[in-house]
Amino acid sequence: MTTSSGHHAVVIGAGIAGLLAARALADAYEHVTIVERDALPAGDEPRRAVPQGRHVHALLPGGQDALERLLPGLAAELAAGGAVEYRALRDVRFSVAGHLLARGDAGRASLVASRPFVEGHVRRRVAALGNVELVDRCDVTGLVPSPGGAAVAGVRVRPRTGGAEHVMPADLVVAATGRGGRLSGWVEELGFGRPPTDRVDVELRYASRPLRLAPGAISDKLVLVGARPGLPRSMALFAQEDGRWLLTLGGYAPERPPLDPEEFDAYAATVAPPDVLAALRGAEPLGDIVPFRFPANVRHRWERLERLPGRLLPIGDAICAFNPVYGQGMSVAAREAVALSGCLATGDVRPERFLAAVRPVVDDAWQMATGADLAHAWVEGPRPAAVRVVGAYMRRLQAAAEHDPEVAAAFIRAVGMLDRPRALLRPAIAWRVLGPRRRRGAPAPGPAGRERALETPAPAGGPR
Ligand SMILES: Cc1cc2nc3c(=O)[nH]c(=O)nc-3n(C[C@H](O)[C@H](O)[C@H](O)COP(=O)(O)OP(=O)(O)OC[C@H]3O[C@@H](n4cnc5c(N)ncnc54)[C@H](O)[C@@H]3O)c2cc1C
Repeated sequence: MTTSSGHHAVVIGAGIAGLLAARALADAYEHVTIVERDALPAGDEPRRAVPQGRHVHALLPGGQDALERLLPGLAAELAAGGAVEYRALRDVRFSVAGHLLARGDAGRASLVASRPFVEGHVRRRVAALGNVELVDRCDVTGLVPSPGGAAVAGVRVRPRTGGAEHVMPADLVVAATGRGGRLSGWVEELGFGRPPTDRVDVELRYASRPLRLAPGAISDKLVLVGARPGLPRSMALFAQEDGRWLLTLGGYAPERPPLDPEEFDAYAATVAPPDVLAALRGAEPLGDIVPFRFPANVRHRWERLERLPGRLLPIGDAICAFNPVYGQGMSVAAREAVALSGCLATGDVRPERFLAAVRPVVDDAWQMATGADLAHAWVEGPRPAAVRVVGAYMRRLQAAAEHDPEVAAAFIRAVGMLDRPRALLRPAIAWRVLGPRRRRGAPAPGPAGRERALETPAPAGGPR
């Protein structure tokens, strides 16, 4: 058995998953080293190896709770630093598949800020732990096998600043190498094979730009307009910690949000509700428009490898990278780190034990993301009967959520990871979605009704 204590644990990657894993490990290991190839900024600037940091990043309330468990007081620090407090759905305008969710108070205060701001705060808290060391500008180039080859005994490290490649021994290695990391290849090199992958291609493109809006230009703090039948385009406009706003436009192939400023504005006009568009037209651009291409949801099924290398745990996007429009990645990583803490507390960090502990977290997020993706006609992939039935139910639920604040609140709690997706099937919700009250109620509005709904500004006020 791999015991959950020892002298030295190594974490590869100082993204959100790596930092939070280090936080969990710091309770059980004498020394924790995080090895990161990027030059880590002292402040909250975007960094090269995490280009997604220039695009909107939602921290879901369920993820925020997990962060708080790992780093108590973090939410207060983020708020004191300028993160914007909001309440769903009071301060959030959210249109899903053409249905604007009924406004109301889904009962939870949450925070919104930029990804570099959140990561910077987490990094400083973790770096301040007495037994955690952050080593940046160093590439991990491979894993070092234990003498018998059944486990991992360390990593090979090559400094980017010059100097020789060397071995860093470890009692446990946590690989938080992100979605583009080389972990599968390294594991194959050790003779364990490559993990099978599940994949749902989406071919999504983002283009984002920071803006300054005129004071009071819109009363919402987040505006989210998802793709809908006939229009595979989306937008997200988020308030940020420094008084700026970040606008991200999305498009599924063959759509592609443009990088030319005039074309970018014209594209926004096809998605933004009229009052938001008016606010955007009066906004001051604060930076370049930056692109991102996201080809697919990819889930590495580490648990299906015939043999797992001992003393090696993948975490975060190295297990599963989700379509970013659902804002799940950081929150899943935080919940996986909480699961790691649980394994450490029981004294068992065998990879199979850890992967079993994170499985419900990954399963739920995967089901929400790929289920929503497969509801789009332009996304290709198998749609077995179960997927079709759940898809049909979700269409009814989203239509009901347009008129019924309780259904909207249930939906937002599931999307926000406060409840498991199956909570949407509870009799009290299913009755509101499918029951006679719903059948007698107003049908989902047609396009004209949708446009009217999108125009409705949010109630003013809020705890900003
Ligand atoms: C466009 C976009 C938008 C997104 N929006 C959201 C959102 O709204 N909400 C949300 O929660 N999530 C979002 N995500 C997902 C989120 O960014 C990730 O899920 C989250 O950052 C967790 O990632 P991670 O720590 O596993 O990997 P990453 O953040 O990618 O970090 C991996 C780290 O490992 C380092 N690394 C990799 N290989 C090596 C090596 N060999 N040696 C040393 N270091 C190495 C990298 O330099 C990097 O710092 C989005 C993603 C994208 C692409």
